[in-house]
Amino acid sequence: MQTVELIKQKRDGGELSAAEIEWLVQGFTRGDIPEYQFSALLMSIVWRGMNARETADLTLAMARSGEQLEVRRSLSPAVDKHSTGGVGDKVTLAVAPLVAACGLPVAKMTGRGLGHTGGTVDKLESISNFRAALTRAEFWSILRAHQLVLSAQSNELAPADGKMYALRDVTGTVDSIPLIASSVMSKKLAIGASHLLLDVKVGSGAFMKTLPDAETLARTMVAIGARAGVHTVAVISAMDQPLGQAVGNALELKEAINILQGKGPADVTALCHHEAATLLEMTGLAANSAEAEARVRQAISSGAALEKLAAVVAAQDGDALQVTDPSLLPTAPVQIPLPSPRAGYIAGIDAERVGLATMKLGAGRFKKGDPIDHATGLLLYRKIGDQVEAGQPLLEIHARCEDQAQAIQTELLSTYHWSDAPVSPGPLIYSQIVPEG
Ligand code: URA
Repeated sequence: MQTVELIKQKRDGGELSAAEIEWLVQGFTRGDIPEYQFSALLMSIVWRGMNARETADLTLAMARSGEQLEVRRSLSPAVDKHSTGGVGDKVTLAVAPLVAACGLPVAKMTGRGLGHTGGTVDKLESISNFRAALTRAEFWSILRAHQLVLSAQSNELAPADGKMYALRDVTGTVDSIPLIASSVMSKKLAIGASHLLLDVKVGSGAFMKTLPDAETLARTMVAIGARAGVHTVAVISAMDQPLGQAVGNALELKEAINILQGKGPADVTALCHHEAATLLEMTGLAANSAEAEARVRQAISSGAALEKLAAVVAAQDGDALQVTDPSLLPTAPVQIPLPSPRAGYIAGIDAERVGLATMKLGAGRFKKGDPIDHATGLLLYRKIGDQVEAGQPLLEIHARCEDQAQAIQTELLSTYHWSDAPVSPGPLIYSQIVPEG
């Protein structure tokens, strides 16, 4: 096969066969196909797209490029949950222990923050000594002992995606439904849980800005899961403003702990309950949604869900006291309120720009390998639909120093959109995509 001929084939709107896709992916992963040729191929995919068969073949080739855990062969059901990424999205931190406390094993391999979106590993590393880099033997022994493991994703898992993502990031080829779907699903198939719940975010803070795009991405990923034998359901949820109140690593972990104690903010609590209940229903651990919801509430009120998180944190060498007493988590030395410049109703909060402002506090990375300040971030007191008086605090900035907090105030204020008339917030959950047939 000739790389240049295959690039031209895709550039001119043709289809790539399974064998051609496999050859291209393995050749690029081994380093035989240079980045300039693979970039041209990626750009052709952005413009010409891929059909369902090509997208599934691309995903499978990427999944086969490295280690395949095949969790479901040893433990079934064992579930996985993945969000396409957003701002203030601490749902995994609450849903994983909640579901595990209900007796459903959760094999979670999770990533670091990507651009303006946060990452679960970074949030967990707010806990002193927490170790997310686990050997395979540790991964399995913690999963079997606690029905939950919260591991960092190894570089051996779908290495084709690691190389392709790095190239997409610098060649303007991230925004493509077949490329995003194959990137997400190759990692999920390499883990190989029996059931997978995808949270596809839509709105200003998400990769997918419109509902039709989010639905297409969700359907593409659910179909790939079905072809590969992983029962996959996607929830399409709102990312038109930050989720919950907290944005920033330790602040989000504290909020997740609040959710596990039954005192989290209403929006993110509702989403966590919905996702946990969906997983219980998908796997047959609950007969219907009412029973699933009741089990979720019981796991919270009995304290079992919080105990589960503390036990897994201890098993991964973290300080479990910081889970049972979150006041021991890192706290920023400067905490200042940001007063509202006007009276009115909040009509919008640009989540992506809030995420970017939070990065300037040190809560995210501008480039791979940048250190993270776990203590910094924001607490949003007012959300879309709220009526605010001039001078009332919109949010609280948690910063390392006064100058850092002052520097982002104007930027934060510009993320708010106002209305003089009452505003109804949009839905939190738009729809749920289930496998066809
Ligand atoms: N998350 C991923 O893992 N890959 C993408 O391409 C986008 C979001």
